[in-house]
Amino acid sequence: MPSIETCTVCELHAEAVFRVEGMDCSEEVTILERRLQPLKGLEALSADLMHQRLHVKYDAARLTTSAMVDAVSQTGMRMWLEHDEPAASGGGLEWRWRLVLGAGAAVLLGGVLALAGLRATASWCFLAATLAGGTYPVRRALISLRARTLDINVLMVIAVAGALLLGDWFEAASVVLLFAVAQWLEVRTLDRARRAIRALLDLSPPEAIVVRGGAEIRVKVEDLVIGDRVLVRPGDKVPIDGTVSGGRSDVNEAPITGESLPIDKSVGDQVFAGTINGRGAIDVEVTRLRRDTRLARIIHLVETAQAQRAPVQTFVERFARVYTPAVIVVALAVALAPWIAGGDPRMWVYRALVLLVIACPCALVISTPVSVVAALAGAAKHGVLIKGGAHLERLASVTTVAFDKTGTLTRGELKVADVIAVAGGTADQVIALAAAVEARSDHPIARAIAGHAARGSFVIPATNVSEIPGLGAEGRVDRSHVLVGSARFLETRGVAVDVGAESPRALAHTLIHVARDGRLAGTILVADRPRDTARDAIELLRRHVRRVVMLTGDHLGAATAMAAELGVDETHAALLPGEKHAMIATLRAQHGPVLMVGDGVNDAPALAAADVGVAMGAAASDVALETADVALMSDELLKLPYAIRLAQATVGNIRANIAISLILKAAFLALAIAGHATLWMAILADTGASVIVVVNALRLLRAT
Ligand code: ADP
Ligand code: MG
Repeated sequence: MPSIETCTVCELHAEAVFRVEGMDCSEEVTILERRLQPLKGLEALSADLMHQRLHVKYDAARLTTSAMVDAVSQTGMRMWLEHDEPAASGGGLEWRWRLVLGAGAAVLLGGVLALAGLRATASWCFLAATLAGGTYPVRRALISLRARTLDINVLMVIAVAGALLLGDWFEAASVVLLFAVAQWLEVRTLDRARRAIRALLDLSPPEAIVVRGGAEIRVKVEDLVIGDRVLVRPGDKVPIDGTVSGGRSDVNEAPITGESLPIDKSVGDQVFAGTINGRGAIDVEVTRLRRDTRLARIIHLVETAQAQRAPVQTFVERFARVYTPAVIVVALAVALAPWIAGGDPRMWVYRALVLLVIACPCALVISTPVSVVAALAGAAKHGVLIKGGAHLERLASVTTVAFDKTGTLTRGELKVADVIAVAGGTADQVIALAAAVEARSDHPIARAIAGHAARGSFVIPATNVSEIPGLGAEGRVDRSHVLVGSARFLETRGVAVDVGAESPRALAHTLIHVARDGRLAGTILVADRPRDTARDAIELLRRHVRRVVMLTGDHLGAATAMAAELGVDETHAALLPGEKHAMIATLRAQHGPVLMVGDGVNDAPALAAADVGVAMGAAASDVALETADVALMSDELLKLPYAIRLAQATVGNIRANIAISLILKAAFLALAIAGHATLWMAILADTGASVIVVVNALRLLRAT
């Protein structure tokens, strides 16, 4: 992915992705926004806290990326274009932690002196520790105030200054020190989380062996060009998307599909970057550049999804925006209480300071994004792409699952089982007519018929062919008009179809009728088997949803027979694509949120109408990958109960995280007002909550 893309429409509107170091909390995002928004030419900003990224849309004629980088550097954060080397660090982190170490030593020394009875000297040590440890927070607090926001640094500095004024020098020093340790812990945990998530997605090797001019050379994958011949040795990772041009092997596509099954690859087959070659050596002809590979698209989709906000997140952030000022007002009231109601002002001011520290909602704000990001990354590892937190939340609330039949519940590898000709004709004639019309179609039924005919006779494609989705196809063969399709299709064209659709043989098959010049010529019986895991998947789904429904364009007999075999609750047959769409609305009204699973191509309207649209087999189809809310990279139906389970676990995780942070805050609020909480306890609680929340969220990476 290039870091800067120019808009294809006007060439002046550009987009850039930056990495921002030091953007760890939503307050920092606000600071960044305040700093960048006034720049002329800036159009849109969106910050992704989890990955420390900033997406910027701007007018390249009026604004440069370096101007943005400069503006950000004034806030104390560092920003650079995503794929650039980071600018040399000004030792910012270094001096920060060295001062903290100094502060630690001073506090220790002070403690020893105090024990030895040298109280006055000890106090000076504490003051020195406070000043050393406080330098960094003061700097950050000033930046934040200049951007007219209140972040944890501002609240901390006020609290520490207050403690100094009250004469609690030891308290001030220990608070500064604890705050530094806490921040270090928080930065470390978040960093670990970021790395764990990136590692999951960072799958393709950096180099490839290419044959150029007869010699084998190692080149960087980004330097490969289309048409290069790459050697992939046994056991190596495939470095790039391409077609096998020599050799044969088995390839494990788990990194893309989540299915750890070896798949045979020989000349002409496609292989994908990031997949693992098995026992044979293969030559691969490069068909896509590194930034366009399937894996790159998946990573891009996951990262875009992770940057989107889930509804809970928006809610939490709105809450936090009210919460912080509210607690500050309470703190002010507490500080002023003795002047109104009497009491020891020292004590009440101290309580107010504790409240100030509690006013920072960092754990609460981080709770949702970490959970969502971890869940989306974990799902991607299993070959399930969920396009954002909002879809994840809706996935968790689904009560009805609607399946398309052909190609979804069934394998879609249809076979012609029998051909029945009406009196006076032959089976071969019926097949020949049908195959002529279906020759160019990609529908599984068409492929079955064309494949069957190819074994017998030579087929001349029909002319004027048109395909009517969900019904059939028609065209001209030898000057006659031929219809091929469902009974419903032929009936709409005035052709009476009278075959025993209720007979046991018909029930096991899809019936494709063929008419010539308005008269039925015969019927083709097409067989399709359910997928091996369809029954199990439906049984597992039943634990999470109330109703499993089948929607199909096939005739009712065949549909009901298969529904009974698979344990589907409700079947709607003979539906046109538009009627499937309408049926989704009906199902939603009856049973609640609907998830629709389809093949992503001709089911697109129904997928779009459902609360969650799931496309199968997305590894093979770009359309499916792009259109659905959730894309299953493989054809494995068992991924569906997995996805719902994960979504429900994530929502549970988010609730737990919000509860942890709120309960801790509430407890400390009460303790602080009652006078039982000290400043250092408040700080520990604040950071402790952040760390617990992040660690809890990371469990979702490993959820199965
Ligand atoms: P499903 O809903 O089971 O995925 P479709 O909506 O693709 O199936 O098709 C519904 C019905 O329409 C099929 O069962 C078949 O009778 C008929 N049909 C659709 N397309 C074709 C075609 N190309 N040739 C013959 N029949 C077709
Ligand atoms: Mg279908």
